Amino acid sequence: MKKDYKKMFDILEEYLDKKDFDVDKTVLKAIEDRKNGKSFNFNEHIKGLVFSLLSSQRDWSEIHKNRQYIEKLFFNFDKQKIKNTDYHYFIKGLVSHSLGNRAIHKQMETLSYNISILEKIEKEYGSLDDFVIRLKPNAISALFACKESPYALKQIGFPLALEYLRNVGIDTVKPDVHIVRIFKRLGLLKGCESEEKEVLETIEELSAASGYSKAYIDFLLWHYCSVGFGNICSENNPKCEICVIREFCKN
Ligand code: SF4
Repeated sequence: MKKDYKKMFDILEEYLDKKDFDVDKTVLKAIEDRKNGKSFNFNEHIKGLVFSLLSSQRDWSEIHKNRQYIEKLFFNFDKQKIKNTDYHYFIKGLVSHSLGNRAIHKQMETLSYNISILEKIEKEYGSLDDFVIRLKPNAISALFACKESPYALKQIGFPLALEYLRNVGIDTVKPDVHIVRIFKRLGLLKGCESEEKEVLETIEELSAASGYSKAYIDFLLWHYCSVGFGNICSENNPKCEICVIREFCKN
């Protein structure tokens, strides 16, 4: 890589530190925990899946602020209690706190089905944790997201599957709209294949070049872009005049 991307990430780190946003370090902690030997149990996998679903097509700051409420609403992700509960209860509890999204009805309606797929995986592979570390994150995510897969989860596309993996401590990136957009503006995508796949490949190179984990690079760029946090490299009105990484941008 020609540019000094370590310098770019250092600038972003300093920017976020100075701004003192209430940044969400949950994924970074999960990755650190796994690195230090932690395994994630079934409830924690459901938690990872639910928070991934809730991240779909909405701003994240309210979800982050309401973590404790969400954990309580979902009975601390006790699978039996969730399965025994009418899904309308979850929709009502989320929507009443403005924590829904466009797909929330379908997401909650299919949650029990998704838990049954996780149970099937546990039965076949011994544990969900053994399953999610068997292959690279992009391959495991494809197994969750691809309709033809025996382990396909409903309402989970490729980016949300990656987010679920991140929530259980797998070091990868979620190629959501913010990440894809800033990768493009920084000239990091060549446009020769699927943008999501290209983000995954490029972040491997950025991680190797900078020494930062993939999740940390995602953390820096995502908080820089996202509404409720930096909101600098935003969709319609990027604030290029005050952008601290302008020298790295091709825009
Ligand atoms: S210069 Fe503008 S387009 Fe480029 S990264 Fe900064 S805010 Fe985004």
